[in-house]
Amino acid sequence: METVRREASRPRGKAVPDMDLKKLPMAPRDNGAPDFRRFLHPAMARNYGAWADHKVIGRGVLKHVAENGEALFTVRAGSPRTLSVDKVRAICDIADRFCEGHLRFTSRSNIEFLLTKEEDIEPLVRAVEEELGFPVGGTGHAIGNILHTQGWLHCNLPNTDAAGTVKALMDHLFEEFRNERLPQRVKLSTSCCQINCGTHADISVVLQHHRPPRVDHENIRQCELPRVVAICPVAAIRPTKVDSRDTLEVIEEKCMYCGACHGQCPSMEVRDPDTDTLAIWVGGKSSSTRGGPSFMKLAAYDLPNNPPRWPEVCEALERILEAYRRGGRPFERIGEWIDRIGWKRFFDLTGFRFTKYHIDSYRFARTTFNTSMQARR
Ligand code: SF4
Ligand code: SF4
Repeated sequence: METVRREASRPRGKAVPDMDLKKLPMAPRDNGAPDFRRFLHPAMARNYGAWADHKVIGRGVLKHVAENGEALFTVRAGSPRTLSVDKVRAICDIADRFCEGHLRFTSRSNIEFLLTKEEDIEPLVRAVEEELGFPVGGTGHAIGNILHTQGWLHCNLPNTDAAGTVKALMDHLFEEFRNERLPQRVKLSTSCCQINCGTHADISVVLQHHRPPRVDHENIRQCELPRVVAICPVAAIRPTKVDSRDTLEVIEEKCMYCGACHGQCPSMEVRDPDTDTLAIWVGGKSSSTRGGPSFMKLAAYDLPNNPPRWPEVCEALERILEAYRRGGRPFERIGEWIDRIGWKRFFDLTGFRFTKYHIDSYRFARTTFNTSMQARR
């Protein structure tokens, strides 16, 4: 990897050295993602670390130009993330026809088709929209596809269906993906519990629990109790005995209802369909551009977890986007817009109630708690 980094930081204007990517040193590994260099588009491999320029040349279409003048085009389409085998085959068939078989998925579940022939862009876009039924867009000053968490498919914690919320929200925001009419790009994420593996975003929808876990003292024997004690980020779990048997208890005034203990032990049940709600957080940013990375902050809470279309969440999201569209300056991200106008004005413009729950006064937080861009990872 060192060799790759040195190549990437090579000063512009110098001759591009011959580079056999397969010969670059990299430790062999028998797990995890395979060596990405095997899968690069040939034009990308040829110009690795030697790109001069890139720009958006149309809805969902990017053009990258290398220092030697070679161009590579990217057509971005939104996907629902959970895909059938037949759908994946149809996607690959389009990549075979127009892209020498090359495509990639972004972390936000966009599909990016890579091609070198400009005249193929239009038929490719038509094939994506008509054959797959996926929208092309998500570049420039538009919303991107929503980054969402595993949900029911792959996690034991969720109390809402992240994929379902995403489907409902993206249906609602379909035109914002296809049209660049916002001041700057808007990244969205959803998380189906407060562990928030959807991470920070301009706008994030996060499920919130409101009660401490209920301990099932009968079943808790199957869990390793020290591990359950250790996983609590605020030391709210301690050993106790019930009917002379070892078990655990929760110090309720310390608990912040994060649900981490439920992931460790199913006998700590934190999910509650009667009280769990959805909240909207705004202003998160991971990139170092302009003001640097920022944490998102609570905007609206107590929204009903209301499948299959989550209308209350869609309406709240629309309110934020409308206020941002009207008041944001060009290139200003949502967090930067709020920093400029002030939170009071943000609450006035969106109509959300401001309450004591918007003030982070949690006194049991440890000094190291929540100091990374990921809430807990
Ligand atoms: S950890 Fe939480 S946010 Fe991530 S997939 Fe599981 S339930 Fe969803
Ligand atoms: S829900 Fe979170 S804070 Fe509460 S006891 Fe479990 S791990 Fe600790």
